[in-house]
Amino acid sequence: MKYTGIMKEQLQTLQTDFSSALANIITQEALKELESEYLGKKWKLKAILAGVKDLSIEEKKTIGVAANTMKNEFIEALVNKAREIEDAYFNEIEAKEAIDVTIGYPSDNLGHKHPISHTSELLEDIFISLGFKIEDGPQVEDELHNFDKLNIPHNHPARDVWDTFWISDEVNKDKDIGERLLLRTHTSPVQIRTMMSQELPIKIIVPGRVFRYEQEDARHTCNFYQLEGLVVGEGVTFGDLKWTLDTVMKQLLGEKTELRFRPSIFPFTEPSAEVDVSCQICSGTGKVKWKKCSMCSATGWVELLGSGMVHPTVLEGCWIDSKKYSGFAFGMGIDRIAAQRFWVSSSRMFYQNKLKLNEQF
Ligand SMILES: [Zn+2]
Repeated sequence: MKYTGIMKEQLQTLQTDFSSALANIITQEALKELESEYLGKKWKLKAILAGVKDLSIEEKKTIGVAANTMKNEFIEALVNKAREIEDAYFNEIEAKEAIDVTIGYPSDNLGHKHPISHTSELLEDIFISLGFKIEDGPQVEDELHNFDKLNIPHNHPARDVWDTFWISDEVNKDKDIGERLLLRTHTSPVQIRTMMSQELPIKIIVPGRVFRYEQEDARHTCNFYQLEGLVVGEGVTFGDLKWTLDTVMKQLLGEKTELRFRPSIFPFTEPSAEVDVSCQICSGTGKVKWKKCSMCSATGWVELLGSGMVHPTVLEGCWIDSKKYSGFAFGMGIDRIAAQRFWVSSSRMFYQNKLKLNEQF
């Protein structure tokens, strides 16, 4: 009984010591130290229990239960304290970092739209005023929509013109030709998706981001923005195409803007034309302050878009009767138009995060 009495007293002292030590703790580090002192390898409770072996079975049970209960109480008290310290820490942060939403923010440097977004929206507004609808499509496209359905089958030489970013072999290795995935090289796949899913007549534009594996220079970047247009219905002619592009470019770049149509070849249009716009940087003179204009390579014209009458094979591939219906399509680089609109000599500069440039618009 002697041992039991001493041990009970020891446990009582331990309990008191623990409680007063715990009350003074305000950091997680100090709490960890206390935990190791009372419950760690050399824990104080264990030292007391070392004497239990000399007790009778009943005494062992009494002391054992008391010690175990105390141990659980210690654990619970430590957990509660840890939560208390954490709450205090977060309350302090909350008080320090509270945001007063009623306070005004200086409005002199709020940022603004990027010239490319600005140009895209200008173009969208003009086309919408002419009755066009905006369509969108995926940037990761399959081969069928990006090439095959546009009359560029697997073995077509025109595929060499597009330096394509293919999605990794890991993804494409089990796919059939046509299903393989790539970063779309143009916005034209959206034309296919629209023709296959919508009733005629169709009158859409597709602004969006496209990707080419390009050598970068003043007019080429590997990531750029295109705006594609498609009109399909009865009696649509090349004259409609010319009028549309002429109207849009004059509204965007000014009444004096001239367009030049050059015969060209595209697999998805017949006949096809490349359209140049008179260079706004050098006013068509080819020179800027006696130097060669880099935007138009001193020719006075900037190649702006490709266009043409939708090829009958493309129409038929989208279940449209090419004898009854016709259509025109065009695709333009928004970056180049932005460069012309804002007189920026290299469209690559739009991607260089130069605030000095962006802040001017
Ligand atoms: Zn020029």
